[in-house]
Amino acid sequence: MEMRASRRERILVIEDDAAMARLLRVLLEGVGYEVRAERSGAVALTEVADTPPDLVILDLGLPDMNGYEVCRQLRQRFNPWSLPILIFTGMDKPVDQLRGFAFGADAYLTKPCDPGELLKTVALLLGHTDAEFSGSPD
Ligand code: CA
Repeated sequence: MEMRASRRERILVIEDDAAMARLLRVLLEGVGYEVRAERSGAVALTEVADTPPDLVILDLGLPDMNGYEVCRQLRQRFNPWSLPILIFTGMDKPVDQLRGFAFGADAYLTKPCDPGELLKTVALLLGHTDAEFSGSPD
């Protein structure tokens, strides 16, 4: 894959499924992002306060907290344009998606998802244009 992030943007993956977290890490690091993964909502919220990432990818079914609640708390602390939140979940009902947006998510993708679509959504949320993303790195 030729796509490269123009700088090392940091993505926090909040995901309790180890295999899925690993897959996201490989995919995102492969195009130049820096990735941290947390399986606990509470730990992730603490981490966000200490070191705010550039984007959050959030699973809804977490062992310690409801992902919607994590989303709500993130949105209380950060404006949508300062921290994009992408919900990435197996919950595929329209009402789940609407709830995600109501709780402050910027985008909602359901598993399984085409890797290209996921990368494109992440790039758009980070404000990359197609030109920036398909061109050579700075
Ligand atoms: Ca989960």
